[in-house]
Amino acid sequence: MADKTPEGFRPETLAVAYGYDPQMGMGSVKPPIFMTSTFVYPSAQHAKDVHEAYFDGTGPLVGETNHIYARLGHPGLDFLEKRLAAIDGAEDAVAFCSGMAAHTSIALAHVRPGDSVIHGRPIYGGVDMLYNSIMPQFGSHAMAYLDGCDEAGVRAAAEAAMAKGPLKLIIAETPANPTAAIVDLDLMVRIADEVGARQDHRPLVVVDNTLLGPFAQRPIEQGVDLCMTALTKYCGGHSDLLAGGVSGRKELIQQLRMLRTTWGNHLDPYTCWLVMRSLESVAVRTERAMANARGVATYLQGHPKVAGVTYLGFLEAGTPQRAVYDRQCKAAGSTFSFHLHGGEAEAFRMLDRLRLMKMAVSLGGSETLICHSASTTHYALTPEQRQQGGITDGTMRLSVGLEHVDDLIADLAQALEAV
Ligand SMILES: *Cc1c(COP(=O)(O)O)cnc(C)c1O
Repeated sequence: MADKTPEGFRPETLAVAYGYDPQMGMGSVKPPIFMTSTFVYPSAQHAKDVHEAYFDGTGPLVGETNHIYARLGHPGLDFLEKRLAAIDGAEDAVAFCSGMAAHTSIALAHVRPGDSVIHGRPIYGGVDMLYNSIMPQFGSHAMAYLDGCDEAGVRAAAEAAMAKGPLKLIIAETPANPTAAIVDLDLMVRIADEVGARQDHRPLVVVDNTLLGPFAQRPIEQGVDLCMTALTKYCGGHSDLLAGGVSGRKELIQQLRMLRTTWGNHLDPYTCWLVMRSLESVAVRTERAMANARGVATYLQGHPKVAGVTYLGFLEAGTPQRAVYDRQCKAAGSTFSFHLHGGEAEAFRMLDRLRLMKMAVSLGGSETLICHSASTTHYALTPEQRQQGGITDGTMRLSVGLEHVDDLIADLAQALEAV
């Protein structure tokens, strides 16, 4: 199957076996783990040809699989990147040692002193810090848009950014964490085209697709340039690894891959193997988790001690967000927030009574995780910033896992009695 083109197969099918050819592994159905830092050459000329193919893209070995040194590439990366590209429907993909390594690599590849970027808010804390605290030390500027479905607001952010310097990246995390705020990807692509016609450089649209994952939202098919996924979350799926992937056009991905050679933030052979294995089941895992989440969200919404539930499946008909959701998302995901009546004391009483759900940050694992947003994931924000993001002292983020939904609801029910 690795030799056939992915065309004609659905992403769920490609996730199971595409990317690895058993011929390469002495017939083993599953890919071996190549635990090696370096690769041997049969002759001096072959060594030279391998280097020529890698660095210049010329010579007799172009298009063949050859390796030099594991930081530059290794078989585990080849397998995983092929599979990830096929699942995302992209020409190519590149894997990094964490989701933030992927984000940082995109930033360093494309943003130069004087350039600007725009991003939504709320956005993953690490990405916020990257563009607002770290990249400005190298002379770049960041502007935030607060509603990714509001054309005028996004345009205003783009204008403000362009007034500071050439706009290089339009960054969208959708749905955003933890409020499930939606960003209209068609709008982002349109604005990138318009800005591109006014600058000498079209900005790239970069989507963080972590929250819904590769099956429930297909950014590459919507025309975005780079689709980033924290493979740590749903794709890894078992809370036992860190990894990041970026999919997109060949030349953009090859640029990141060459830079990764120097930055040294590639994904190691063992973790590549773990992610390959996890990708086989991500479609069924997320289906089950999303069904569970709907059950839990529905239960919470009707509970007298719950002030509100921020769940994509409850977006009101007739709103711009709902229209974008219907166009862009195939499912509502399994990470959402709910807000208790009361504040920290009530929230802590409930959390300390839970018997099944685990209190931890992160999301997308097989087990259900819960955390109190204001005192954990959004601890570093000011109360005003939290309020802007819709986070109260009674807000809890829930990443619903694969347990039986009735057990999850029963656990919440007994814990809510403590409130
Ligand atoms: C977790 C996460 C990241 C970062 O991934 P790491 O593997 O932890 O570096 C980026 N974006 C989103 C939306 C995330 O949830």
